[in-house]
Amino acid sequence: MRNRIEEYNERLSGATLREIIAFSVCEFGARLALASSMGAEDQVITDMIAEVAPEMRIFTLDTGRMFQETYDLIAITEDQYKIKIQMVFPDAYDVEEMVNSRGINLFYESVENRKLCCHIRKVEPMKRALLETDAWISGLRREQSATRQNMQVVEWDERYNRIKINPLIDWTSKQLGEYIHDNKIPYNTLHDKGYPSIGCLPCTRAVLAGEDFRAGRWWWESAENKECGLHVK
Ligand code: SF4
Repeated sequence: MRNRIEEYNERLSGATLREIIAFSVCEFGARLALASSMGAEDQVITDMIAEVAPEMRIFTLDTGRMFQETYDLIAITEDQYKIKIQMVFPDAYDVEEMVNSRGINLFYESVENRKLCCHIRKVEPMKRALLETDAWISGLRREQSATRQNMQVVEWDERYNRIKINPLIDWTSKQLGEYIHDNKIPYNTLHDKGYPSIGCLPCTRAVLAGEDFRAGRWWWESAENKECGLHVK
């Protein structure tokens, strides 16, 4: 598999977003999906998928604790592109057990609780959503986080035992903003209110000028803990 990943990265070196999406569709066909967080990056990728491969499955994880603005964006995106975004929910029994035993806002109590909540509301549903895929597309960018510096366009995702494709890995925030503006891509209105990275409502706050891109995510924790588990290698 390592050779295959290296080969993909060589072939896609310097490739555009369109070329990466088109290549991925040729390579993986119906066993390819976009896992959209409905963030700005995933909206750019969705825009390209709607043009190049409108039949591709796009899904998003509904944790049950999202912002109303995110739900509104899902509806707007479906309407603008005439596509369906599959909603993936956590297991109801697991959520009930967790909140009844640890509290409705358990994530503020400890890192362990927060990781459990992310695991039940995000990681387990993600595993289920990826069952029928060989590869998935993510909107990660290297610039977003210290933990993402060594990522490449194509990677082996050890958590999900699948290939992960990061077509925007080299994009800058400026490039992303210009692309969204020039192509009139719908985006979460919270981005205009100081939220560069948007997750669940109780775990996301706006950032101040000069703060890190992900400073508003789980702001009460130290920087090295700031991943929800979806992208941990
Ligand atoms: Fe739970 Fe917060 Fe993780 Fe959402 S971001 S799944 S509310 S801990």
